[in-house]
Amino acid sequence: MRATRALIHLDNFRSNIRLVRNRVGPGRKLCVPVKADGYGHGAVPMAKAALEEGAAFLAVATVGEGVLLRDAGITAPILLLSIPIPEETPELIANKLTPLVGDKEFIQALAAAASSMPLAKGEPLPVHLKVDTGMGRVGCAPESAAEMAALIAGSKGLKLEGVATHLAVSDSLIPDEVRYTKEQLARFSGAVDSIRKAGIDPGIAHAANTGAVAFHEDAFLDMVRPGILLYGYAPGGAEKVLPVKPVMELVSQIVFIKRVKKGETVSYGRTWTADRDTTIATIPVGYGDGLPRRLSGDFSVRINGAMYPLAGRICMDQCMADLGPATTIRRWDSVTIFGGDAPSAADIAAKLGTISYEITCGINKRVPRVYPES
Ligand SMILES: *Cc1c(COP(=O)(O)O)cnc(C)c1O
Repeated sequence: MRATRALIHLDNFRSNIRLVRNRVGPGRKLCVPVKADGYGHGAVPMAKAALEEGAAFLAVATVGEGVLLRDAGITAPILLLSIPIPEETPELIANKLTPLVGDKEFIQALAAAASSMPLAKGEPLPVHLKVDTGMGRVGCAPESAAEMAALIAGSKGLKLEGVATHLAVSDSLIPDEVRYTKEQLARFSGAVDSIRKAGIDPGIAHAANTGAVAFHEDAFLDMVRPGILLYGYAPGGAEKVLPVKPVMELVSQIVFIKRVKKGETVSYGRTWTADRDTTIATIPVGYGDGLPRRLSGDFSVRINGAMYPLAGRICMDQCMADLGPATTIRRWDSVTIFGGDAPSAADIAAKLGTISYEITCGINKRVPRVYPES
């Protein structure tokens, strides 16, 4: 076990799920995205905890991510959010993943493959129709939703189980963007109605990502699929309604301590010079673990209840903290990089002009995930 580890607080994850379920009400299903290795938290443990908390669906981005969950014994429905290449279709079907489909070519290819390799008892493969109401990424135009639904409904190998759309600016409270979200939702409800008018049951209608769960009750529909919210980061302005707690805490330990004299420099490029005699601690975490190097010069870590600035550049495997001239801190003492009683991944993201997602997903495989409660 190395000093640097990501503690994954499953108790926080579970209480975040309960906050969301209370907000959307008991009649609505919850889909928990565990793509990108559960936003960096570990897909399988997060998926299992989510299902124990009553999630009806999980969601992944790639067929491989879905297979990983199946191999861990998970039998719950798994939405496949991104479009696979044709070579992945047999694995998609064999593992009964539920793809989001929105174009003829994909629907027809899936239908052909699904009827030639039917699921157990010859049941059709459930799919959800993806409608592009303004995200501009994937999905059919709202005007062709009924036609696509008919194509699915008329395919022997497929079954229309749901209809989905994705919102581009639901996390924003800027009036223009709130209006844009309302327009997206109106287009979506038009698309769902057109499917119904064509005599086809649209099944589960879903649209709400984190921003919509926070700010748009009219997006709750039959199911919600918030991701980052469940991992503990609410969009600005929603902290009071949804007081979620960050799930990931990145910790390490001091592996070396030394005295440094005024005028001596620390780390690559000699960007930091001691302005007094001081104490420097070396911490074995760096950009090779996913701690962004751009934080160099503007980052502090928490040790024994106080914050200490890093001295000089973050290296691939190590960084150094300035403990000051007189310190009681010792070699092997614990260090919190983010989360826990230190600033969160969201605070780091704000410094870098990015989003918490990129910080937690960026903590890579070299960092063991530890699940203290389990
Ligand atoms: C990732 C994703 C989500 C979850 O988004 P958050 O912003 O993390 O809530 C929901 N739906 C789709 C289609 C996604 O790709």
